[in-house]
Amino acid sequence: MVDTFNDEQSSQSSQALINLGVSACLMGEKVRYDGGHKKCDFLLDKLHPWVRITPFCPEVKAGLGIPRPAIRLAQIDEQLRVVGTKDATVDVTDALNRASDDLCLQAQGLTGFLFCAKSPSCGMERVKVYDEKGNPLVSTRGGIFADKIRHQYPLLPCEENGRLNDDLLRNSFLTRLFCYARWQAMLREGLNGAQLLDFHSRHKYLLLAHSERYYREAGKVLANLKARPIEVIAQDYLTLLMTGLACVATRKKHTNVLMHIQGYFKKHLEKSDKQALTQMILRYQQGLLPLASPIEILKHHLRHYPDDYLQIQYYFSPFPAQLNTSSVI
Ligand code: SF4
Repeated sequence: MVDTFNDEQSSQSSQALINLGVSACLMGEKVRYDGGHKKCDFLLDKLHPWVRITPFCPEVKAGLGIPRPAIRLAQIDEQLRVVGTKDATVDVTDALNRASDDLCLQAQGLTGFLFCAKSPSCGMERVKVYDEKGNPLVSTRGGIFADKIRHQYPLLPCEENGRLNDDLLRNSFLTRLFCYARWQAMLREGLNGAQLLDFHSRHKYLLLAHSERYYREAGKVLANLKARPIEVIAQDYLTLLMTGLACVATRKKHTNVLMHIQGYFKKHLEKSDKQALTQMILRYQQGLLPLASPIEILKHHLRHYPDDYLQIQYYFSPFPAQLNTSSVI
């Protein structure tokens, strides 16, 4: 039995398995149009020790050079083009498309991707699009390269650097990233029904905290493993799992899970301990405590009253605790 809330153990098992693609400028590489970079402190100072990084720069790959004229997305004759910001007759659409297609092939096997926000190549969303006269349009979209990656690998955990400043979004990305790494590790060992059921067991409360709907649908997909080829079932399950984990885990949903887990200790705890635990969960629900508070108490009780099912739950540590830099959620 693996004790998944032993952070050291779970982090060690994940360390060699996470292949993270990143926009190269986030690594501090001076590849931007102006010869600068967009160094991402969280990536380099926190996440780097846990992942193997592969940098991608589609604009350099397209041969645009460093430095190079700034480019932007433009709607011209009802087509999306990538043109010079100062000189719209400079059109690099074809070169950027070709480079992005090549890099997409190289992205096979990645565990996740961290994009550079706002870039016409790497921005994940909300990248500005201009009309032929250079006026910004109301609608926005993803950059050329980011769109291709997300289209080709729709379940790949992706995020952009700016959104990592938001505690909820950062934790959501880390949760999906480390979960996907565990999935890839399971596939490397060889897919079979028993492995799949075991994987689901370990992620049940984690998925429930993000989405009760996807939690139930995932369970149904695994209900009859003989009905269809195991590869088809696994793909359906992964789709539900990753879609579910992308839903925001609110305080209300976490409270539901905490209450469920609290039920395991009903017969063990003294009345005063039960009341203290309930109070702590309610104070978390009201926003007066971070999630770590009831989680730590539950872990404490679990050490005293071990339970095989609870001890394998990744809910207690979906990713290494050292990466959780938030003190408020
Ligand atoms: S945002 Fe993308 S294309 Fe632009 S410099 Fe960074 S890696 Fe290169």
